Amino acid sequence: MALVGIVGGGIGGIATAVQLKRYGIDALIFEREAIGGLIRNAYSVENTMFFPDGIKGVKVVEILQEYVKKYELKILYEEVVRILKKGNLFRVITNKGEYTFKYVVIASGTKPKRLNLNTSRLFYHVIDVPEGNFERVLIIGGGDVAFDYALTMSERAKEVIILTRSEPKALPLLREYIKERKNVSVVKGQVLDVGERLAKTTAGNFEFDVILVAIGREPNLDFAREVLNEENVFLVGDVKNGIYRQTALSIADGIKTAMEIWRRERYGDT
Ligand SMILES: Cc1cc2nc3c(=O)[nH]c(=O)nc-3n(C[C@H](O)[C@H](O)[C@H](O)COP(=O)(O)OP(=O)(O)OC[C@H]3O[C@@H](n4cnc5c(N)ncnc54)[C@H](O)[C@@H]3O)c2cc1C
Repeated sequence: MALVGIVGGGIGGIATAVQLKRYGIDALIFEREAIGGLIRNAYSVENTMFFPDGIKGVKVVEILQEYVKKYELKILYEEVVRILKKGNLFRVITNKGEYTFKYVVIASGTKPKRLNLNTSRLFYHVIDVPEGNFERVLIIGGGDVAFDYALTMSERAKEVIILTRSEPKALPLLREYIKERKNVSVVKGQVLDVGERLAKTTAGNFEFDVILVAIGREPNLDFAREVLNEENVFLVGDVKNGIYRQTALSIADGIKTAMEIWRRERYGDT
């Protein structure tokens, strides 16, 4: 059995596993969905310092897959539902089985804050929007993710409306990109009521084909509550970074965590 169990096959979890492998330490990654995590949604990632012209989120995932292959990383497509302490070890319980590790790395990212809207056309992640083109897409939120989603959807919809209840908080550069998209408008207002295809808002009524909600995210940690303060349990990436959710920070956390685990193994200190 591997020494380290990693929850999450996003960029943070994979960075941890790669660096561990470079030390000769085996890890097992649990991923409930697909390799790459949240970055799969990104229109263009421009702040990694390695791609000055930006790189599509889906391309980042292809690169991660190359790392998985090159380093022969072990991935189990299972959802971790609970982690418990067992003597000096940890029991990782998934929807399919149970595993024991000396170290646990929680790189499980975030989950979207939700709105209780009564339509089947509601999505929180742009990758979940069905294929095809649309007449009008309504995006609720005024942060980086809402504006990034608008860039993606502007290529698939005749009209995109970003509905934000206060002044947009998105990165100025993203706001500039949006200004250049003639089919995207930013409207200040709040949702009052949503039917299957009609949103009533303080800024008027809008028919829509798709609603994307991007009103913030929160740590995805429920399964790990019982071990969060234990030694040899590490948090990596978005799950611990609050509003500072960036790929470079997840990678840095992963590499640092792997170095720390190696140090503990080698010198026995914490
Ligand atoms: C639209 C958009 C654009 C972005 N653009 C940029 C950008 O330009 N530059 C930038 O630096 N960052 C950007 N980001 C942020 C970036 O995507 C994140 O910071 C980064 O992907 C976080 O990686 P992570 O590994 O910490 O978490 P995540 O990518 O969220 O990975 C967590 C993984 O854990 C899995 N998981 C969760 N719970 C469990 C469980 N119980 N069992 C098993 N698996 C589980 C999930 O399925 C997921 O694959 C963007 C984000 C979005 C949404």
